[in-house]
Amino acid sequence: MQPMMGRCFVCGKTLSQEAMAGHLRACRSRQDGEQPLFLLHVRDAYFPETFWLFLEMPQAAPLAALDEALRQVWVDCCGHASQFIIDGVTYGRRPKATPVDLVLDEQAHVAPMDRPLEALLTVGQEMDYAYDEVWPTELKVRVLAAYGGTLPAREARFLARNYKPPRACRVCGRPADWLFTNAWPLEPYCDAHARQHPDWEKPHAFLPYVNSPRVGLCTYRGPAEEALRFEISSPE
Ligand SMILES: [Zn+2]
Ligand SMILES: [Zn+2]
Ligand SMILES: [Zn+2]
Repeated sequence: MQPMMGRCFVCGKTLSQEAMAGHLRACRSRQDGEQPLFLLHVRDAYFPETFWLFLEMPQAAPLAALDEALRQVWVDCCGHASQFIIDGVTYGRRPKATPVDLVLDEQAHVAPMDRPLEALLTVGQEMDYAYDEVWPTELKVRVLAAYGGTLPAREARFLARNYKPPRACRVCGRPADWLFTNAWPLEPYCDAHARQHPDWEKPHAFLPYVNSPRVGLCTYRGPAEEALRFEISSPE
């Protein structure tokens, strides 16, 4: 997969990921509040140049709020377990935990995600994140900066994201709208050719081609919330 440019949602500029990291510090320097925030850089563990985003969160927010933000914007298909590994400690969350899960987690010394970010993280630190134990989506999260600002209306404020990676329909070469998931590698199709496929009606045989590291996995169809969708192609 190719390196993707991205958009700064603060000022609208299109920049490379490397340039964005520096740009955001300046773009966010004109702060209008005193609340301690962290600037976080998140990348796909295997395609770090393709899927990336920057967000800021209150330093006092619990780790679970970062998990929730990543789920909402990028990974949540159907409420799988997720975990962070920070300084060798595993922090886990299971929205659909069974009593057996909870006992196993306790035996494996999995900690809850209730501690605030400021108690776990310092600037420059990196942590691993994984969502779903069976078909994991793995991310790297790095703390880029700490500064004062206004509290986000929700606990996370998304500042920049990669543009949608281009993929072409395998039949006609037009931009892909769907991925056929009963093939490996997954096969991209435009809407017209997906609908002509003999398996079009089969449940989850086709999943929307969306701008996320979880694209094509499990039943992932993009963010549930319209405001968090970012399906725009790079202008350059
Ligand atoms: Zn900007
Ligand atoms: Zn799922
Ligand atoms: Zn086509």
